[in-house]
Formats: sequence, structure tokens, C-alpha cells
Amino acid sequence: MAANQKADNRAKERAEMLRQIEAEVLETAHWLAKDKLDPRVMAAMAEVPRHAFVPRMEDAYAYRNEPLPIGLGQTISQPYIVAVMTDQAGVGPGSRVLEIGTGSGYQAAVLAALGCEVWSIEALPELAEEAARRLKAAGYAKVHCRQGDGARGWPEAAPFDAVLVTAAATSIPPALIDQLKPGGRLILPVGAPDGVLRRNASQRLLRIEKGHDGGLTETVILPVAFVPLVSPPQD
Ligand code: SAH
Repeated sequence: MAANQKADNRAKERAEMLRQIEAEVLETAHWLAKDKLDPRVMAAMAEVPRHAFVPRMEDAYAYRNEPLPIGLGQTISQPYIVAVMTDQAGVGPGSRVLEIGTGSGYQAAVLAALGCEVWSIEALPELAEEAARRLKAAGYAKVHCRQGDGARGWPEAAPFDAVLVTAAATSIPPALIDQLKPGGRLILPVGAPDGVLRRNASQRLLRIEKGHDGGLTETVILPVAFVPLVSPPQD
């Protein structure tokens, strides 16, 4: 198949993925308290080549609205979840965003496509290396990657407009609150790592907003099922 035909097919698949995200946003509008996501977030989702972030074996499924395995028991999140988390972060061009759990690098690429500068931490060295290489090759120069324990945050680059955690915590890591700007938002799944069916999951995706007086406001966004936060191997 000619390269431009392939690119064309990918663009079509991506457009279909966007329709599925829109449909799921409508289905979950009662949770999200909105029936449409920020158009800038949807434009970023339309731009990032998800197929460049999934293992070759999963290539045919790259644009399904589903999580996919990326090795070492980890997953690239479902596109709908990536869109919702990005939307909930309330960020845009020029925002400084910390991501915990680089995984495939896809969520970081979506934030970068939105115009954010991104600091992303991955616990597992193999995934950290691969994601950094992939993001660089795809031209995402505004994503800074490092391997380590995300629960400690990235103090040298703090404070952040938003922090996104893409693995489930059993409690809220205090460092991540400390590293938020006043007015900043922490988006994270909290709960036991037992959820398989998302609608039945015991985890909740939370939005925690730091007020200008330093006070915290917590909002439940959605029931979710994320892989658990782990301790990096050498820590
Ligand atoms: N955001 C990813 C999804 C990753 S799944 C994407 O877009 O593909 C969650 C990731 O969090 C896994 O890669 C896992 O290894 C990583 N992780 C788990 N615990 C962590 C920790 N304490 N610090 C940093 N990363 C962690």
C-alpha cells in the first residue's frame, strides 16, 4: 500500500475514534457534568498518531476506543479516558503539566499537541527509555522524560498548572499537591487496584483543585479501572 494511502486510512481511523469518544462522553455526561469536551482537546486527539505509541502486535487495534497492552503488565489508556483526563486538567498552550506514568508516551504526546510543556515520570526503566525514544522520534520536543518514582513528583520543574496520574493510588501523594500552583488541578484515580470492568470499578477518577488560599476541593469525575502505582525496581 502506498504511504499516502496508509496515512489516509489512519486519518479515517482516527476520525472514527473521535466519534466513539464523543459518543462515550454523551453516555457519561451525567458523570462528567458536560456533554462535550474542550474542542482544543479533541483537536489534539485528532492530531496525535496513536498507532506510533502501541506495540507492533497491536497495530490493527491502535484506533479502537480501548486500552491496549504495552508490555510488563502495563497498558496505554483508553482514548476516551485520555481525552477526559486532558479535558479535566483545564490546560492549554503554555501550561506546565506533570504526568505520572509515561507508559507508551501517548498521554504526554496529547498534552504536547495541546501546546503544553510536559514533564513525565515512568517507574519501569524499559518503558521509560522506549517512551522517551518514541516521543523524540515523533518530534515531541516539549516532553521531558525521566525514570523514577512519580509519587515524589518533579520538584525541580515545579510548580505545575496540572498533574495527571495515570496509575491508581491508594491515597493522594502529598508531594503532588505541594507541586501544584495555586489554581492548579491534580487529576488522579484513587482506590483499590481491583477494577476490571470500569463501570463496576471501586476506583474513582478525582479532580483536586488547589485554591488560591491553598485549600483543596475534591470532585469525583468517574468510576475507572487503572493499573496500580508501583515502586520503581531500584528504589
Ligand atoms: N499514560 C500512559 C498510561 C500508562 S499505564 C500512556 O499514555 O500510555 C500506567 C503507567 O504508570 C505504567 O507504565 C506504569 O509502569 C507507570 N507507573 C506505575 N507506578 C508508577 C510510579 N510510582 N511512578 C511512575 N510511573 C509509575
